[in-house]
Amino acid sequence: MEKKKLHIGLIGYGGMGSWHARMLNEIPETSLCGIWDIDPDRREAAAAAGIHVYESQQELLNDITVEAVTIATPNDTHLPVALAVMSAGKHVVCEKPVALNREELAQMTDYSRKMGVLFTVHQNRRWDEDYLIIKQLYDRQSLGRIFNIESRVHGSRGIPGDWRNQKQHGGGMVLDWGVHLLDQMNMMLGSRKPLSVFAQLTNVTNEAVDDGFRALFQFDDQLTFLVEVGTSNFISMPRWYLQGENGTAVIHDWKLNGEIVMVSDWEKRDAVPVVTAAGLTKTMAPRTDETVKKYPLPEVHSDIRDFYRNVNACIHEGAKPLIQLDEVMEVMHIMEAVFRSAEQNSVVYL
Ligand code: NAD
Repeated sequence: MEKKKLHIGLIGYGGMGSWHARMLNEIPETSLCGIWDIDPDRREAAAAAGIHVYESQQELLNDITVEAVTIATPNDTHLPVALAVMSAGKHVVCEKPVALNREELAQMTDYSRKMGVLFTVHQNRRWDEDYLIIKQLYDRQSLGRIFNIESRVHGSRGIPGDWRNQKQHGGGMVLDWGVHLLDQMNMMLGSRKPLSVFAQLTNVTNEAVDDGFRALFQFDDQLTFLVEVGTSNFISMPRWYLQGENGTAVIHDWKLNGEIVMVSDWEKRDAVPVVTAAGLTKTMAPRTDETVKKYPLPEVHSDIRDFYRNVNACIHEGAKPLIQLDEVMEVMHIMEAVFRSAEQNSVVYL
């Protein structure tokens, strides 16, 4: 049986808004009613793409065919726009970071409950295949006990010259990319919670907001998790690096280049010392081929369209949201700890 379509309006038709528009038009379970953007150029771009353009936010909210609204505006506007949408009795899909701090998120959550509307967040990077591969390796523990995970995204263009480099608009890389990587960390580790974090922010190209950061989390049982975002990396480090007692996995890039190397014989004393100009090392000598085995990364498949399919099912069939608000709140809590640690230059206990 064909599913009932979910009719969605879109507020904010910039980079990500146009992505949502394409998605909403593409999947059979949703239908894009139209957009509103404060910028006339963006309204024109939408009209040129054949999308209905409302004359104001209020006109969009007054449209009774609109059941839900996706918000893809700069970070500081999520709170006022979401409250306006909810007060019109419409469901909300909000871009990440949903809010600038926990207080704002609590305000949005409380109001959605009061109005009896769905309020969910587009944590789309839970569908990233690089993340799902590492999650599978972690879940299966086939590399032996995992003792270190490193998750990095590196760019080399600084922060784009828009609202992202302004503090008052919720700019900076902790809020921009950190929110994705920290959400992935939490989803991967499940009930294991970080005990502490030590974080440093970088300001290589931008003084007003962080243009990168490094946050080292300590979990129980000697597990460390490093999250790093950089925007001045002309050579990128691997997207993921995972260490188990018996093997190491690496994913170099978005194209999923990478491999797993596992020790096949711990006992073989194969070390041929490496002699350098100034000395010699046995400890750091590379392993010989007979004592290790190489494996390709496992294949995983995901479909980001499941996000909106779930939103439809939540609204029309009472399904459970894939993105839970307590998970989003937990990430906000951790982001605040990252900022606190960097400001105090000390470990913060969570
Ligand atoms: P953008 O600057 O490209 O687009 C923002 C648009 O919002 C602009 O067209 C602007 O005119 C419009 N706008 C600003 N204030 C408005 C208001 N009050 N009402 C209506 N329109 C308004 O920015 P972007 O890259 O599209 O980012 C938008 C949001 O999407 C941000 O929260 C960002 O973090 C998020 N985002 C998410 C992902 C993801 O993968 N989930 C990727 C990129 C951006």
